[in-house]
Amino acid sequence: MPFIKPTYNIDGDVTDIIIETLVADGIRGLIFDLDSTLMESKSGRLTDEVSAWLIKARPHFKMVILSNNKNTAYLEKVKALFDMPVIGYAKKPSRRGFRKAIEMLGLTPTEVAVIGDRPLTDILGGHRSGAKTVLVKILRTINEPSWKTSIRNLERRLIGR
Ligand SMILES: [Mg+2]
Repeated sequence: MPFIKPTYNIDGDVTDIIIETLVADGIRGLIFDLDSTLMESKSGRLTDEVSAWLIKARPHFKMVILSNNKNTAYLEKVKALFDMPVIGYAKKPSRRGFRKAIEMLGLTPTEVAVIGDRPLTDILGGHRSGAKTVLVKILRTINEPSWKTSIRNLERRLIGR
């Protein structure tokens, strides 16, 4: 088990990320996880809170969504919903998808932050790609079954936050 610590460990969801901090630290691009980070899985719905945060963030960063999802029609919908490029079939934590996303942003890895809720996919993959990493909690608008929360907490303990 590799020991990885996210660059930023957010005690909240994506909307609690302080945009000014990332800007001050030289971050110019964001790679987002999709499920539970930007929206409830398969909901096809963008909440007002996330939408408002993205509007504030947009002037500061280039953005791309990186997802393990393989449903092309669904990914097309997500692209339209969020109005940003979407890379599917990512096989996170494989470095391949992250490299592709960083290349698409046209930035160096250290100028990029990977934002996600899963330490062993989003954070591990981002770290291995040389990017900065932001571990967030799942959107507070999602009601998660308790067994899933337990697994998530275990994963967080494994990375030694
Ligand atoms: Mg996720």
